[in-house]
Amino acid sequence: MSKREKKTDWEIVEMEEKEKAKFINDEIPFGGFSMDSTFFCIHCEKTHRVTDAKIVKYKNGAVLLQCADFPECDGTVLDWSRNDER
Ligand SMILES: [Zn+2]
Repeated sequence: MSKREKKTDWEIVEMEEKEKAKFINDEIPFGGFSMDSTFFCIHCEKTHRVTDAKIVKYKNGAVLLQCADFPECDGTVLDWSRNDER
């Protein structure tokens, strides 16, 4: 889609909201979330909505759930702490 030359070995995968929710649910190690759940990323020290997380596909085939601030922030789902888990 983008005309600019790719300098990276990854791309952000766009998904429909339902599809994305399913992907997030499968990826997230701490289990079911609601669409308005938020998480705190220990890399950028910011709180994001879980549905704003980026799905990033790498050339080696890996697909990772990453921080909403990707690529500025390289935090992955493993670097999140969940805010509504108390
Ligand atoms: Zn982050």
